[in-house]
Amino acid sequence: MSPQDLRCNQGHWFLKNPRLRKIRYKLRSMLLALFELKEVELLQKIGQVSRDKSLSHDKRTEMRRHLRKEREDLILSFSQRPINCAMCGDREEDLIYQQDDNMWVCHNREGCHQRVEQYAQKVRKMLKERIDN
Ligand SMILES: [Zn+2]
Repeated sequence: MSPQDLRCNQGHWFLKNPRLRKIRYKLRSMLLALFELKEVELLQKIGQVSRDKSLSHDKRTEMRRHLRKEREDLILSFSQRPINCAMCGDREEDLIYQQDDNMWVCHNREGCHQRVEQYAQKVRKMLKERIDN
């Protein structure tokens, strides 16, 4: 990496080099996949505990509470890392940390808002189709 690969804007450093941006995207994608895998494993464990009749009701409740806490901690930990934008979910953009909200969001606010709006329109359309059918 050289100084030409970076750009500084308002105290934030961003990657300019397309090859480095691609590597960052792939790393972020792998971390997201690991997060999703871990979350699915925890959800499966919660389901297994719920169905395990060899455990007492109190023991199942205690184990589910522990697993739900572990899932909440995982989600919180993930959301505090610069893996994807907390608003639009993008993994390609340069992210900046919003201390007040304790989350990472796109530096390109315009593009972020457009992606959020596109997603909202897609969800509205899907809901309308479900209601109409
Ligand atoms: Zn965004």
